[in-house]
Amino acid sequence: MRAFRYHRPADVAEAVAVLAAEPQAAYLGGGTNLVDLMKLGVQRPDVLVDVTRLPLDTVEELPDGGLRIGATVRNSDLAAHPVVRRDYPVLARALLAAASGQLRNMATTGGNLLQRTRCVYFQDTGKACNKREPGSGCAALHGQNRDLAVLDWSEQCVATHPSDLAVALAALDTVVEVHEPDGPRDIPIADLYRSPGTHPERETTLARGTLITAVRLPPLPAARRSTYLKVRDRASFAFAAGSVAAVLDLDGDVVRDVRLAYGAVAHRPWRAYRAEEELRGRPFSPDLAARAADAELAQARPLRHNGFKLPLTRAITVRALTELASS
Ligand SMILES: Cc1cc2nc3c(=O)[nH]c(=O)nc-3n(C[C@H](O)[C@H](O)[C@H](O)COP(=O)(O)OP(=O)(O)OC[C@H]3O[C@@H](n4cnc5c(N)ncnc54)[C@H](O)[C@@H]3O)c2cc1C
Ligand code: SF4
Repeated sequence: MRAFRYHRPADVAEAVAVLAAEPQAAYLGGGTNLVDLMKLGVQRPDVLVDVTRLPLDTVEELPDGGLRIGATVRNSDLAAHPVVRRDYPVLARALLAAASGQLRNMATTGGNLLQRTRCVYFQDTGKACNKREPGSGCAALHGQNRDLAVLDWSEQCVATHPSDLAVALAALDTVVEVHEPDGPRDIPIADLYRSPGTHPERETTLARGTLITAVRLPPLPAARRSTYLKVRDRASFAFAAGSVAAVLDLDGDVVRDVRLAYGAVAHRPWRAYRAEEELRGRPFSPDLAARAADAELAQARPLRHNGFKLPLTRAITVRALTELASS
């Protein structure tokens, strides 16, 4: 492991100023992803700016009925928060389906959103990877791609985003509060992540050195009827083979509103707008849910080893919505 310096900033402005002054600096949250990648030689920061002592560790109920979650709130604390459990069960379930108890005790909200892909070639410095080393190629495109994307990939990168939390936040139309060198800004989560295109090394729309300070959930009474379903290879802890975050609002048996987002299918959490469109205004049935998933997945382009993700994603869509409809 290379030597690096450790810095503990006094406030947000100082944290952002250090990143602006040091081209090879990185923020340190719980370190559960960054430190692993440093050990593998995938990331090589000279300075770690530890943000976990900044006053960003509270969950605050907002006057409009929404919720602001500080960037350093640990995943375990967020999953156990009574308002999250009552008003946004999809969020609590997504968090509890992720990683292990020990990891969730360390992992932060901001770090979770910006964790890097689990593509095995990205993590292996001996393999070609455009995301790690732009222009070097993509070993996954014709290699082992079982865990990789079926939607919106490019010839340059077929990686998926690994976060379960981000999928739930995408379904909830979350706003991400950031602090850039120029000052604070709000970014809708739909605008946070990028498609890989010709620059897979750029995963988000954030300027270098931007600090996530909080995420803000809008008031969404319908989210009390929400869930997160995840399929994984191992029950104790594993990244998703497929996942769905779902919010369902019924008027009688007619779908008044619905929010759906998929995990493990694309370079970013995938909001299933086409499926939502198919469902809205129609009497709910499992057949309708299946048709909605098919409408969304019609644009999929499975790779050699991951065609199973299409029936899997369809099945969990039907199951999640059917459970919500009968709850
Ligand atoms: C064995 C194992 C299993 C796992 N399983 C799952 C799983 O099933 N589902 C899942 O979702 N995750 C899983 N994870 C990943 C885990 O959730 C992430 O490692 C964790 O959430 C990252 O949070 P952190 O605070 O530790 O981030 P760090 O590792 O500290 O940082 C991650 C990245 O975010 C940046 N960063 C951190 N905080 C901020 C901030 N406030 N603003 C801007 N940038 C910031 C860092 O510079 C770094 O680039 C697993 C991890 C392991 C090791
Ligand atoms: S899929 Fe993306 S992350 Fe994986 S090897 Fe290809 S370029 Fe790298």
